Parts: sequence; C-alpha cells; structure tokens
Amino acid sequence: MRQTDVYDVVVVGGGPAGSAMARRMAAAGWRALLLERGEMPRRKPCGECLNPAAVRELARLGVLDRVRGAGAVPLRGWEIGPLDRTGFRGRFPPTVHGLGIRRAVLDEILFRAAAEAGAETRTGWQVRGPLLEGGRIVGVEAIDPDGSRTPVRGRLVVAADGLRSKLVRRLDLVRRSPRIWKLALAAHVRGIPPRDHGVLKLGSELCVGIAPVDSELANVVVVLGKNRIPEARGDSGGCFDRQLEAALGNGGAARCEDVLATGPFDIPVRRIVDDGLLLVGDAAGYYDPLTGQGIYRALHGAALAARVADRALRSPTGPTRGALRSYEEAHGRAFSPGRRLQRVVEAVTSRPAIFSPLSRSLAARPAAADALVAVTGDIRPVRSLASIDTALSLVLPSR
Ligand SMILES: Cc1cc2nc3c(=O)[nH]c(=O)nc-3n(C[C@H](O)[C@H](O)[C@H](O)COP(=O)(O)OP(=O)(O)OC[C@H]3O[C@@H](n4cnc5c(N)ncnc54)[C@H](O)[C@@H]3O)c2cc1C
Repeated sequence: MRQTDVYDVVVVGGGPAGSAMARRMAAAGWRALLLERGEMPRRKPCGECLNPAAVRELARLGVLDRVRGAGAVPLRGWEIGPLDRTGFRGRFPPTVHGLGIRRAVLDEILFRAAAEAGAETRTGWQVRGPLLEGGRIVGVEAIDPDGSRTPVRGRLVVAADGLRSKLVRRLDLVRRSPRIWKLALAAHVRGIPPRDHGVLKLGSELCVGIAPVDSELANVVVVLGKNRIPEARGDSGGCFDRQLEAALGNGGAARCEDVLATGPFDIPVRRIVDDGLLLVGDAAGYYDPLTGQGIYRALHGAALAARVADRALRSPTGPTRGALRSYEEAHGRAFSPGRRLQRVVEAVTSRPAIFSPLSRSLAARPAAADALVAVTGDIRPVRSLASIDTALSLVLPSR
C-alpha cells in the first residue's frame, strides 16, 4: 500500500460485518481495503450461535459450505428457563436450522472470503481514528504492523470495528452511556454431552448460555449483572468455573482455555451514516447479546450497506450523507422491531417473578415457544408475535 493510494472503500474491522462488507464491495468491482487490528484466527467473546437467518446470509455470501465443512454443528432451537429449573423448548421450523461454530473459525473463513473476492486484507493494522479534511472523512489514521502512524485514504470509510468502535468514539457518535451494565465471561468447555440446541438459564443477575460449537467443544457464556460483576474481579476464570459447576453440576465439564471477558453492551449511536462514512455491525449500535442475533445483523447489515454504498460511489455526488441515507432507513426497517423486542425480552427475563410463570406457560404451549424462537431466529417478523393467539399464549398461564 502506498501513502498516495486512494481506495474506493476502507473497511475497518475484520469481524463478520467488515469481512462481509469488503467481500461484497470487492465483488462489485470496487477497490476495497479491509484493516484488522488482530491476527487471524483470533478469539472473540461470543455465544457462537448463528441463528437461521445468519445461516441464510452465509449462503448468500457463498461461504456456507466452507463453514459447514469446518466443523459447524446444526442447532435446532433453544431450551430457555430459570436458573434452577428446566425451561421451555422452542424449535426452529424443520426446514431451517442455526449453527454453532467457533468464532475463530467463522471469522477467518469470512476474512479469507473477502480477500478471495479481491479485497486487499491487512492484519495487525490498528485504526486510531478518522482522517479528516475540512471536517469531512477522507480515510483513517492507522498504526501499521511496524508501529508507524499511516494515513489510509478512501472515498468511503466503513466502521465495522465492533462494540467499542474507535471510529464511533472519535467521531462522537455514541448517543449515551450504557443503561444496563453486564459483564460476559466466555470460554470453551469439554465434557458437555452433545446437543442439537442451545440452552439459556436466566436469572435476574446471572445468565448462563451453553451451546455446542463442534463435535467436542461447547461454548459457555456466563453473564453477570451489575451487582455481581465484583465476583469476577481479579479471577474471572474462578468465577466462570463456579458458575459452570452451579449450572451443570460436577459432571466432568472442564474449561479448556482462558476466559474472555467483555461488557457492557448497551451502546447506542446517534446515526449510522455521515459524509463518507457508514457504520455496520455492532459499531452501528448494540443492546444486549441475550437473543443471539448479532451475527445475523452484522451480515445482513453489511448486505444492506453494500447495496447503498455501491449506488453512492457511482453517483455524481459520491458517498455523501444524503447519498447514504437510504442505508439508515433500510437498517431501521430491518432491525428496529427486533431491537424493541430485545428490550422486552431483557426486561422480562431479568425479573424472575415474571419470567418463571411465563417460562412454565411456554413449556405448556410448544407452538408459542416455537413462535418466539422463530422471531429471535429472524425467520419470522416480530409482528407475527402480535397475532392474538400467540400474544395470549405468551402472557396467560397455561390452561
Ligand atoms: C457475550 C456475547 C455473546 C454473544 N453471542 C452471540 C451469539 O451467540 N450469536 C450471535 O449472533 N451474536 C452474538 N453476540 C453478538 C456478536 O458477537 C456480534 O454482534 C458480532 O460479533 C458483530 O460483528 P462485527 O463484525 O460487527 O463486530 P466484531 O465481531 O466485534 O468484529 C470487529 C472487528 O474489528 C476489529 N477491530 C476493533 N477495533 C479495531 C481497530 N481500531 N482497528 C482495526 N480493527 C479493529 C476487531 O479486532 C474485530 O475483529 C454476542 C455478543 C456478546 C458480547
């Protein structure tokens, strides 16, 4: 890369959103550069469950067979309940399924797929902030692998650098500080019998999620509420192991790596487009990982963004805020109903007095449980829950 190079698109962050965006833009003929601060493969704290809509997005990107071939295991639905009891089981429709896969594996496949489509990909490049000229974004400032500060110019910059996006912060696009404080501890565990579904055990200040990610390993995520975060201070591994044993009993399950910790998650943004700038994936605002829809939003958001970016780059004005605004609208239409539902789910599941009876009610109403899981799997619209039967069955005790 020469300092005088001007790319059509500079994508910051080689997670699912950034790699999908770079792959799509390169495939459309644009000169795309993808900058990732880490080295691939790299771990990422995540439940590592792709919902059925995310699986569909992988097929659209042309990488589903590779992901399946890399050891991903099918997920047929979720078992969800309070910490101390078996809950209800919601199944995806038989024609679709989710996938459990290690993020190190998934993200490397996507990153390579961007390069295969013709994007220039760089690892070990840490973006420090936007490159501004006359108040307009004309690229990014990065630290290259040799430690040198390097300007990188692009007609369009895509911030896909995740929950704690440097670009979003430097451009003052975070709307407010988090209102819910949670800390997630994630690691792979051996010795959990294989299942074809994920398990979520939910309490007011503690949640445990368990899902298979290949034929041997399960992903376990322990999420601590604000009052319990001090339990992890100084010993996140010990805290994780105690909660693992409490959730599963002493049945031979053993953590096989260091725990990754992350939080808080509730980071909304003011807007997701600006002159020469698009935000995709978690960088475009995040709320809570509980419903496991983030990878779908990253991949589908990149598809929406790439369509608009392609048009804007061809237009006489170039990628101005006005030319990019239709991405903001499409993003809102695609994800706002789900975000509202996430708030309801978070509010209900963190209140045992409401969640326990609801969980019992759903256990007795498999069709309603399936409907809820299909909505959080992004294969049915949120409004389908508003049908009278479903709504009643969600709130009324079982007959
Ligand atoms: C505890 C937890 C559990 C979750 N479980 C699930 C789940 O089961 N299913 C699901 O669908 N979603 C889940 N999510 C959400 C999911 O992880 C995210 O929504 C998804 O990773 C978003 O993808 P992304 O590409 O936007 O960001 P990321 O995956 O975070 O990728 C961002 C990339 O940008 C890079 N980067 C960051 N800063 C810079 C910089 N300055 N310069 C260069 N590169 C940079 C990072 O190294 C990273 O590779 C979970 C999230 C959490 C926190």
